[in-house]
Amino acid sequence: MRSFDYSRAQTPQEAARLAGEAGARFIAGGTNLLDLMKLEIETPRRLVDISRLSLDVIAATPAGGLSIGAMVTNSDLAANGRVREAYPALARAILAGASAQIRNKATTGGNLLQRTRCFYFYDAASPCNKRNPGSGCSAIGGFTRIHAILGASDQCIATHPSDMAVALLALDASVVTLKVDGGVRRLPLAELYRLPGETPHLETVLEAGELITHVELPPAPAGARQIYRKVRDRASYAFAIVSIAGIVSMQGARIATVALALGGVAPKPWRDERVEQALIGAVPATETFEAAAGILLADARGQGSNDFKIPLVRRALVASLRDLTGVAS
Ligand code: SF4
Repeated sequence: MRSFDYSRAQTPQEAARLAGEAGARFIAGGTNLLDLMKLEIETPRRLVDISRLSLDVIAATPAGGLSIGAMVTNSDLAANGRVREAYPALARAILAGASAQIRNKATTGGNLLQRTRCFYFYDAASPCNKRNPGSGCSAIGGFTRIHAILGASDQCIATHPSDMAVALLALDASVVTLKVDGGVRRLPLAELYRLPGETPHLETVLEAGELITHVELPPAPAGARQIYRKVRDRASYAFAIVSIAGIVSMQGARIATVALALGGVAPKPWRDERVEQALIGAVPATETFEAAAGILLADARGQGSNDFKIPLVRRALVASLRDLTGVAS
């Protein structure tokens, strides 16, 4: 590990200012960054410790939603009574991720900003456009079991690994940030992440030093069923091969509202409004769900060893929609 300077920020403003310097990085739980530093995949000149900031509060918002401090641990968030009651998809997604030990350290903000688990990204001997722009992508033509079938580019086919972010996307979460100049901005989660395109090393729209202070959820949709389904290679401590967060409400015999987000299939948590529009107003039926899956997967492209994800997503989506609407299999 390379040597680095360390600063413990006393306020969010100080944290943003310090992290705005070239080569500086925030550290909170450190569950991803420290591994990357040991491998010298990340070599920050300064770590700005934000773990003592008062950003560990979960509180109701005036609008009836929930404000989640960026330093709230994954364990505390999953155990929170209001989350379990009103946002069960979020609680289930968090509990489906990592191990209990890691969830005790990992934070809400850090979870959103964790890096891909692409094997080649972690192997410093392999060319990787995300780690070393312009060097090439070792995954393309390589082993791609965990790689993307949607939203990838010919520069990078990595997936985003977070379970929590998938549920937050389906729940219409926003992130609130503090910029180096003191400005506050609010970003729908759907606008936080970039697709790789020609610049896979740029993963979010955050500016240097911009600190996520909170995540905000709108009120939970009344009367809706929520689900988080995760398909993975082993029953615990494994990243998603495919995951789905779904929220559906019914009006009579028809679907009134639907939100669907997917993980493990794209460089960012994936949501396709065309799929949701095709389902709104429909009478739940397997054929309708198959048609929605067809819309979702129209542009899907396998890379060889992840071709299986295309039929897997179809089956997982149809099964999730059946569960959400009570259609018998
Ligand atoms: Fe690097 Fe992305 Fe290619 Fe993986 S998929 S080797 S992260 S460029």
